[in-house]
Amino acid sequence: MPGSEPLFARVALIGIGLIGSSLAHAIRRDGLAGEIVVSTRSPETLDRARELGLGDRYEADAAEAVKGADLVILSVPVGACGAVAAQIGPHLEQGAILTDVGSTKGTVISDVAPHVPDGVHFIPGHPIAGTEHSGPDAGFASLFEGRWTILTPLPGADEAAVGKLTAFWTGCGAKVDTMNSEHHDRVLAIVSHLPHIIAYNIVGTADDLEAVSKSEVIKYSASGFRDFTRLAASDPTMWRDVCLSNRDAILEMLGRFSEDLAALQRAIRWGDGDALFTLFTHTRAVRRSIIEAGQEVDAPDFGRHGEIAKTKESEAD
Ligand code: NAP
Repeated sequence: MPGSEPLFARVALIGIGLIGSSLAHAIRRDGLAGEIVVSTRSPETLDRARELGLGDRYEADAAEAVKGADLVILSVPVGACGAVAAQIGPHLEQGAILTDVGSTKGTVISDVAPHVPDGVHFIPGHPIAGTEHSGPDAGFASLFEGRWTILTPLPGADEAAVGKLTAFWTGCGAKVDTMNSEHHDRVLAIVSHLPHIIAYNIVGTADDLEAVSKSEVIKYSASGFRDFTRLAASDPTMWRDVCLSNRDAILEMLGRFSEDLAALQRAIRWGDGDALFTLFTHTRAVRRSIIEAGQEVDAPDFGRHGEIAKTKESEAD
């Protein structure tokens, strides 16, 4: 907002991969902070962030980066949040907001909360937006536009701080919902984690098949397989951590999925065309509602071509 005070005086971005760098672009574009301080684990990534001009200041030490920041955002794999919180905890500013963007919330809360001093507002978050690309070059300002960000404030969270973080995400172009972390983890298990696990599995199976050659898999991939390969190209560290940290909800959803798959298998085996037709009609309607809700585009290639793809391939969360 040109001319008006930024929402935050200083934001510290801890982790500057796809999500951290997209935040840097959005913060800069929308004037959401007076100063952006960038910190990341490796000197190589920090150098790259500097080359890309993602911040105003660069710190190799996360503890240095958070000093004096009124907003601190952890954009590291969920399995790393606890260790990073332990490192920065003693250096967080009184009254600061500490948030994260992790794809799971229960374990992030149990790992991070013990390191948050009194007087610092820890408000966990998760933007439901992403791509299969990683690293500081992958980010872009419009990643969050029209997408949901879910905040999972802890009981008794400061309402003003939640309101300010909500305004921040709205400023990045996102729509914001709040819910408790258990509910978040169950919802995300079915809409995001299971699809990725299924994609990893089917791509792995196709790769192992001896009856179909690898060159045929690649040559004919447009016939359905291609969209799975996009999900299955997602970052291995991130998805290992998601599976480990949301284990219970994922196993529950996988149980349901396996039962339904067995029913589908039976319908195919017994030639039950009515059952197949009913299911496929129902699922087609689900896709219609997603398009109507503005969370997908109704194009034959799903809008995924060239640069446009960068703004549309945003459900690999
Ligand atoms: P990314 O592009 O791979 O970037 C990861 C960042 O975290 C890098 O700065 C990396 O530092 C740092 N990092 C990696 N391992 C670390 C460790 N053990 N300790 C400290 N820092 C570490 O990842 P991303 O896609 O931005 O994902 C970041 C977070 O966003 C994850 O929690 C993920 O669940 C969540 N998320 C991802 C998506 C998505 O689609 N990708 C969507 C929504 C939310 P170096 O490069 O310096 O090693």
